[in-house]
Order: sequence, then C-alpha cells, then structure tokens
Amino acid sequence: MTDHFRRDGVIAGRLSSETLAENFSDLHPALTPHEAVVAADRCYFCYDAPCITACPTAIDIPLFIRQIQAGQPEAAAGTIFEQNVMGGMCARVCPVETLCQEACVREAAEGKPVEIGRLQRFATDAMMARGEHPFERAPSTGKRVAVVGAGPAGLSAAHRLALRGHDVTVHDANPKPGGLNEYGIAAYKTPEGFAQAEVDWLLRIGGIEILHERALGRDITLSGLRTEYDAVFLGMGLTGVGALGLEGEDLAGTENAVDFIATLRQQDDLTALPIGRHVVVIGGGMTAVDAAVQAKLLGAEDVTIAYRRGRDRMPASRWEQDLAASKGVKLMFDVAPVALHGEGRLREVELAYLSDMEPTGETVRLRADQLFRAIGQRLEAVEGLDLSGGKIAVTGAGRTSLDGVWAGGDCASGGEDLTVTAVAEGRDAAEDIHAALTGGAVARTGALVGEPLRGIDGPPHGEVPHPGTHG
Ligand SMILES: Cc1cc2nc3c(=O)[nH]c(=O)nc-3n(C[C@H](O)[C@H](O)[C@H](O)COP(=O)(O)OP(=O)(O)OC[C@H]3O[C@@H](n4cnc5c(N)ncnc54)[C@H](O)[C@@H]3O)c2cc1C
Ligand code: SF4
Repeated sequence: MTDHFRRDGVIAGRLSSETLAENFSDLHPALTPHEAVVAADRCYFCYDAPCITACPTAIDIPLFIRQIQAGQPEAAAGTIFEQNVMGGMCARVCPVETLCQEACVREAAEGKPVEIGRLQRFATDAMMARGEHPFERAPSTGKRVAVVGAGPAGLSAAHRLALRGHDVTVHDANPKPGGLNEYGIAAYKTPEGFAQAEVDWLLRIGGIEILHERALGRDITLSGLRTEYDAVFLGMGLTGVGALGLEGEDLAGTENAVDFIATLRQQDDLTALPIGRHVVVIGGGMTAVDAAVQAKLLGAEDVTIAYRRGRDRMPASRWEQDLAASKGVKLMFDVAPVALHGEGRLREVELAYLSDMEPTGETVRLRADQLFRAIGQRLEAVEGLDLSGGKIAVTGAGRTSLDGVWAGGDCASGGEDLTVTAVAEGRDAAEDIHAALTGGAVARTGALVGEPLRGIDGPPHGEVPHPGTHG
C-alpha cells in the first residue's frame, strides 16, 4: 500500500499498472480442454432439461455439453449460436446462478451445478478462435430494415434479419458498436477487447451496415425511418439515469455509475483513471455492484453500497453480493441518502436508516470523496410510441403500437434487463419482422452451415445423437 493509495480526493494512479492488470483480469478464466471434458462429464443429460427452460434463449444445453464431451467443441458452438448469436458474451456475463445453473438438477441435489457458463465459453471460444462464422445467408429478399441501437438486442435482430436475406442498416448513437457490452459490462467480465471481436465476428454474416453517431431523435426520426425502410427495430436500451433529488447533488465527486463505468471501459491506461479514497454507491442492482467492485479494484480504500431495502430484495444476485463482499465492498441495507455534504466537493454522505422503506429517525454520515448513483435507468420518450412502465409497450414478439415498428431489449416492456434477454428479444422480433415482410409464415431460409436452424426447421441432424434420460 503506497502513500498514494491513502491520499484523500478523487485521484489517478492509486495502484500500479501491474496490480491493476491483475485486478481486472478475467473473472472466470477459460477452461482447458481437459477441464472442459471433466466439467461436461458431470452433466446428466436430462430429458426435459430444466436448464434449457431457464435459458432465455432456450439453448439446447445437454446437447452442446454432449458435443463437448464427444470432442466436438465447434459442433457445440453451432448448437449455441443457432439460438444465441452472442453466446460468447452471454457465457461471460449471464448471471447463470439465477438462470441455467440455478435450474440444474445437480444444483438442487448437491449445491454444485454443472458449469454451463464456462462450458458455453469453451465451445464458443473454440469456434471463434478458428475465425469461422457458421451461418449462411439466404438469397436477398430485396427488403431493407432499419435497426436503432447496436447493443445486444439490435445486433441480434440485425444478424437474424441478415440471415433471412434482408439488408440491414444499424443506426447507433455511439462511436463504437456493442451497446453495454462495450460501455457497461464490468471490465473483468469481458477483458481483452472481446466485445468488439464479437461484433466483428457477428458482422461476417454480411448484409449489415452500421452507421455510428446517428441518434434517433437527434440525427434521425422514427417517421423518417418508417418512410425509408420496410420495417424498423428499436433496440436503443435505456439512456437516462434518475437523480437522487438531494441538495448537494451537484458537488464535485458525484456522478452516475453508468458514466463512470463507460469511462472505465474506454480507458486504455487504468492508472490514469481518477478514483476516490472513500466511495459510496447508491443502488442495489448489477450496476451498483459493478461500480463498487471496480472502484475497489482501482484502489479506493473503502467502498460502501447503500441500498434502500433488505438483502433479500436486492436486485443484484446473492452471487454478485458475495463477489462484492469478497473484494472488500461493504454492503449496507435499509438505508437511503438524505443529504450530501461538502463545499464545492463531496465530503460526506448522510444516510437515513429505514424500516420497511420508512425512516426510523436515525441517520449516519459516511466519509465520501466520490458517490456513484446507480438507481435505475429510464427511457427518453420516443415519438409516436405508447410507453408502459417507462418503456416502449410491446406485445408478442416485440410489436409496438406503430405499424412496421418493433422493439426489444432494455427499451421494451417485459423481460429482465439482461444481455441474454436482449439477444432473445432481438432474435424473436427479427423472425416476426421476417414473417411480416414475407407475407405470413416464417420462410425456411438462411441457416447454420450444414444444419438447418433448430426451432424453425426441426431438430438438427448433427453426428452426435440427442441425449436421452440421465443415468
Ligand atoms: C453497468 C451495467 C452492468 C451490467 N452487467 C450485466 C451483466 O453482467 N450481465 C447481464 O446479463 N446484463 C448486464 N447488464 C444489463 C445488460 O447490459 C443490458 O440488459 C443489455 O445490454 C441490453 O441490451 P440492449 O441492446 O437492449 O441495450 P444496450 O446494450 O443499452 O444498447 C443500446 C444501444 O443503442 C444505442 N442508442 C441509445 N440511444 C440511441 C438513440 N437515440 N439513437 C441511436 N442509438 C441509440 C446505444 O448507443 C447502444 O449502442 C448490465 C447493465 C449495466 C448498465
Ligand atoms: S445435469 Fe441436467 S439440468 Fe444440469 S446441465 Fe445437465 S442437462 Fe442441464
């Protein structure tokens, strides 16, 4: 611990570049081929496997695990990608502890699920490392579709539309594609430029053009897109962040957690990124945990997450809470900020204790050079569209209140705000758009090379037989 580490204020260079490199290394290192086979051997290959039902993209998990076990990681990757073209990113960022791995029968029986996430990463990495793109585009339909947003929802929709033979133009407000995969997900979940590598790989389907720094509402309009294109898919995520509504919120040192994380993700040299010595994060979701953990990894001496409800109601999973605690982040429950103190610069955060969300009358002051707000994002209004709960109201596979306009991912109503949900909604909306543009039934066009797309064309005909009941 150096003197620099102990200096007050929001300053850069609290830790050496070597320590930072170690702190921000891969959270779940890749499995070796031997480890992968050992992990695959633990699968019971359940009939009616609950892990499939728990996966928002319904990947045939026992099949891809059997393919890994049989020494066919590329075939396993095909099984994954046909359901989830961002299976590589989802393998890194999915909260598997509340999805497939929570549902795994070995979790219920022994408290130790099959490592589905790491096995998925093993398979998808194997195919991507070979530079292969396993899909073949259908012949051109002559239809043009606009996608707004190059995040997981928009890219997933764009890929499926391109696969079906449509020409897709993606309009994105940011200079780089990927959405929160590039600007939001914690750096230690997706190191070494994986987000951009995945976008490059995905675009190899062909037929997708991405136009950057083109924001809906600023540079383009929805009515303009509806006139110019045959269909529009909106996947622009959530852009605004709520304020605390407290005096002192404009003090230096107070900022939005998503902005801090976006800056961190774009920073090549982490020694140049300023961080406080005493940091408080307000919120209880993934963003709060990610901001707190990364503040600690950057060298903040003490970091506290202040959440207004009890532990059980915290949106961040127990696994994420434990991750934060393991990195030295303190978790405070049933507290809410009531005042920010300082002169020009933040010095203290005053928290009120709550009981069932009601103030008990007791307060506490925490030293703080820096405060991150992680209290939920919202959608800015979109011209002509009905909203529901602050999001674009959708029915079925992402149909909005406007003809020819679909929406999915975080900006659309329903579903959890997760990468995998965004991918699923983008894919399903794309199929619905395709059906609408081609006159009803989903035409069987475009496929995995060598195999028809499952769920659309029936079961695959790979060499590995589908597993039966477990033994
Ligand atoms: C800090 C943080 C950490 C997270 N960690 C995880 C995690 O570990 N695991 C997980 O599963 N989920 C995580 N999530 C949630 C996950 O990132 C989102 O659910 C997912 O990215 C939603 O995808 P999307 O495509 O709907 O939106 P986004 O990823 O937000 O992408 C939206 C895209 O639209 C663009 N855009 C926005 N407005 C406009 C406009 N007006 N015009 C044109 N383009 C526009 C943006 O530039 C962006 O590229 C995290 C979220 C945050 C904020
Ligand atoms: S043991 Fe069953 S539930 Fe667990 S990963 Fe294998 S098929 Fe899925």
